[in-house]
Amino acid sequence: MDIARSVADLRMRVGGWRGLDQTVGLVPTMGAIHDGHLALVRAARAACDRVVTSLFVNPKQFGPTEDFGLYPRNEADDARLLSDEGVDLLFAPSVDHVYPEGFATTVAVAGLTEPLCGAYRPGHFDGVATVVSKLLIQCAPDRAYFGEKDYQQLLVVRRVARDLDLPVEIVAVPTVRDADGLALSSRNAYLSCAERAIAPVLYRTIAEMARRLADGRTGPAAEIEWGRARISEAGFDRLDYLEVRDAETLEALDAVTRPARVLVAAWLGPTRLIDNVPVLPRR
Ligand code: AMP
Repeated sequence: MDIARSVADLRMRVGGWRGLDQTVGLVPTMGAIHDGHLALVRAARAACDRVVTSLFVNPKQFGPTEDFGLYPRNEADDARLLSDEGVDLLFAPSVDHVYPEGFATTVAVAGLTEPLCGAYRPGHFDGVATVVSKLLIQCAPDRAYFGEKDYQQLLVVRRVARDLDLPVEIVAVPTVRDADGLALSSRNAYLSCAERAIAPVLYRTIAEMARRLADGRTGPAAEIEWGRARISEAGFDRLDYLEVRDAETLEALDAVTRPARVLVAAWLGPTRLIDNVPVLPRR
């Protein structure tokens, strides 16, 4: 697997493949590669002739009090895992290369970015939309792969691609979980043993809510009240949100009559965990 550090190098490699009529899949990541990222790579491998993975810890999507400095970085380990999975090219630019002096453009998506994580992480989705727009323009892939783990991000990226007429298919990949249900995340490395033991309650709670909501015998308000109590009793330090929202628009729902999502963000000590599951109403 080769490593490209510059956009020119990336474009040269991708241009070579295009000349051979080969299709290209892009998997954007911030590194600290785990099986969730590798599921995206496998999906790309299965559908595209060539796979590019980007590795860039994007400072613009971290708030001033967030974990940009602490975020786990180990390019050598990441490169080995990605190479073993058959990635053709790793695009790993420096911060200065992505945001050279004078950089002044922000891609901002209205509406979808306002609730949920957008309300708790001001500027986060501007940072995501800006860097993903750049990556999609730089690499010009046929398909780009995003995890449902970051569900709001997935919808934001879809919106950007549509609104900016980017000729790319945005492909969603289901969340990969540990055996006890905890969604894999680079931030799980921050958890102490005691916190790691509590963490799976998040998934168990939203999965149970989704099951009951799909049956149609209860509604979002009652389930959210039950879920909040369960998460608090389990020992989470703070709940940012626990909500039931439309799966496409993220509008809040009084009743689940169309495909929905239960979404949660909660803190264990200094670590913020997010998760979500689908609700498919059975009647
Ligand atoms: P990150 O490196 O955390 O920015 O994630 C890069 C991509 O991997 C994003 O599209 C994430 O949604 C996706 N991803 C992260 N964790 C998981 C997971 N457990 N299952 C599936 N996709 C994931």
